Amino acid sequence: MVSDLFVNFCLLSSFLFFGDMFGYMIQDRFTIRPALLKTLYGTALGLFGVLQMMFTFELPNGMLLDFRQLSIMVSAALGGVWPALLTSSIIAAGRLIIAGEVNVSALIGAFAALLTFAAVAPAFLLRISFEKQWATAALTSMLLAIGLIYYRLGPAGIPLILLLAAVQIVACLFTYLLMRYLRTARELHTALKQDIEHDFLTGLYNSRGFESRYRMAVASGSPFALLLMDIDHFKKVNDTYGHPAGDAVLIQLGKILREGVRRIGCSSRKGGEEFAIILRPCDAKKAYETAEKLRRQIEETDFVLPEGRVIRITVSLGIGMYPRFSENELVEETDRALYRAKEAGRNRGELAG
Ligand code: GH3
Ligand code: MG
Ligand code: MG
Repeated sequence: MVSDLFVNFCLLSSFLFFGDMFGYMIQDRFTIRPALLKTLYGTALGLFGVLQMMFTFELPNGMLLDFRQLSIMVSAALGGVWPALLTSSIIAAGRLIIAGEVNVSALIGAFAALLTFAAVAPAFLLRISFEKQWATAALTSMLLAIGLIYYRLGPAGIPLILLLAAVQIVACLFTYLLMRYLRTARELHTALKQDIEHDFLTGLYNSRGFESRYRMAVASGSPFALLLMDIDHFKKVNDTYGHPAGDAVLIQLGKILREGVRRIGCSSRKGGEEFAIILRPCDAKKAYETAEKLRRQIEETDFVLPEGRVIRITVSLGIGMYPRFSENELVEETDRALYRAKEAGRNRGELAG
């Protein structure tokens, strides 16, 4: 029995681990609607529940047991009522198909799967923490199993009930810990991916994010424009109103850039008070018009400082075109154009070349 139990644990942990890995890989590459994702979860866990039935372990009295109720619990925990219902229905159908005929034991097995759904799903509708939802579902599922054994064996089933309760508690705890670990690992991975390419202050891409968008724009083969933008006399803002005021300006400017080019490109904060915008596909005329539009919008915006004071700022821009300049020349040439815009009096855009 111990070795069967061990096989069941291994099966469960392997499925949860690889299921999570594949789920993450698919979600990373494709945009999947939540309803479809829930259906996939429900189906996969239902099929796994059927597989679990093929690896049952035998209790001392000859009764067969497996962890298929955990598949239903995981399904409910991941997606709620619909996937849990799907999982338990597949398990119920699987129970009848495995039996090969509609006998009493198969019917009880199939019915137990549906009863488990009814026992565990409501816990995940409660507005309580995930830990409490899981504990509630584990408890109701255990009470159901105990009830079913007591119904069949009466007081003679009590030793079996105690054994079953111990196994269930360990299995539920183990599954909970594994799910929590996988969830935390996934959240950290997502946060890390976001942080690696984004600027914490403005939420725009950072230099690393810019580099990869730049390479993608070059690889696309279509003409695109690069705008390099620098705030004019920004040091004065910091010196006059303080660093937090400067940060507030950067945050608001980030918002203007994000919204201003959302449909036509992407913006990044390259560092300090310098920003880079990739517009694609784009010709020089359109690039210059976009730069002018942004410059004017910024010039006319009231930037609100932390203590409520309102200030105005201006920006200078360099505008460079690809493939007029090669991948290696473009940034340098555009930066040179930005420098010329500064030299020419600031608050203007200059075309590179
Ligand atoms: P110019 O018109 O020639 O660009 O003048 P400038 O004052 O904008 O340029 P300068 O390079 O002399 O100063 C840039 C300033 O930007 C200095 C620095 O304190 C400020 N700065 C850089 N990063 C941040 C930041 O994250 N927050 C704040 N508040 N200020 C920053
Ligand atoms: Mg600068
Ligand atoms: Mg500046």
